Amino acid sequence: MYHLHQAVGILGGTFDPIHFGHLRMALELHNAMDLAEVRFVPCYQPVHRKLPSASPEQRLAMVKKAIATEPHFHVDAQEIRRKDPSFMIDTLIELRKELTNTPLCLLLGIDAFLHFSSWHRWEEIINLSHLIVAHRPQYQLPHTGIIADLVKERLQTEVSAIYTSLGGYILLHPVTSLDISATDIRKQIAMGKNPRYLLPESVYDYIQQQGIYSITRV
Ligand code: ATP
Repeated sequence: MYHLHQAVGILGGTFDPIHFGHLRMALELHNAMDLAEVRFVPCYQPVHRKLPSASPEQRLAMVKKAIATEPHFHVDAQEIRRKDPSFMIDTLIELRKELTNTPLCLLLGIDAFLHFSSWHRWEEIINLSHLIVAHRPQYQLPHTGIIADLVKERLQTEVSAIYTSLGGYILLHPVTSLDISATDIRKQIAMGKNPRYLLPESVYDYIQQQGIYSITRV
C-alpha cells in the first residue's frame, strides 16, 4: 500500500490517575514506532472493571495536565463525550473516519493484551489497527489459546510492518519496567502516604486540590 501517513498511537485507559508507567510507555513506543503522535483516550466507564474513583471530568483533567508539556501527546475525549460504556471498537471506528490513510497503533501493556480476546468485537479491533504490546519481563505470553494463536498469526518483528497496512499486525516491544499502578497510587493516597515521583507533580497537585482518593472513595 502506498502513501500511508505517519502512524498514530492510541492509548486507552481509565487513568484513575494517569502515572509515569503510562507516560513512559507512551513515549518509548512513540519513539520506537516513529509515531506522529499518541492520543490518550480516557474511558467514560470501563467495561471490565469496577467504576473509577475519580469522575470522568477529573480523569480527563489529570490526563491533560500530565501531557501538557509533551508536544506529541494529545488527549481525545470522545469516550467521555459519548457518555456510554466505553468500547475501543467504537473509538477506533471514529478515529478511522478522521485518519483515513493512517496506520493506527493501539498501544497496550502486556497485562491488558493477555485479556484482549475478552474485548468487545476484538477481531474487528485487530483489523482496524495494529496492536503494539509493551512487554514487561514479569509477564509471559501463553503457549496455547486464542491469544497464542493470534500472536502466531499476526506477529511481526520489524517496525516497518506497520507501514505495509492500516492495521492487522501485532508487535511486541520491550519498555522500561516501571512497576507503578493506579490502584497502588489510590491506596497510598487513601492511607495518607505521599505518592510523589510515581506520577507528575501537576497531577498530584490536582488530586490534592480536588480531594480525590480520600479514604472513603478508593
Ligand atoms: P489500575 O491499577 O486502576 O487497574 P492501571 O495503572 O493499570 O490502572 P489503566 O488505566 O488501567 O492503568 O491502564 C491503561 C493502559 O496502560 C493499559 O494498556 C495498561 O496495560 C497500561 N499500563 C498500566 N500501568 C502500566 C505500567 N506501569 N507500565 C506500562 N504500561 C502500563
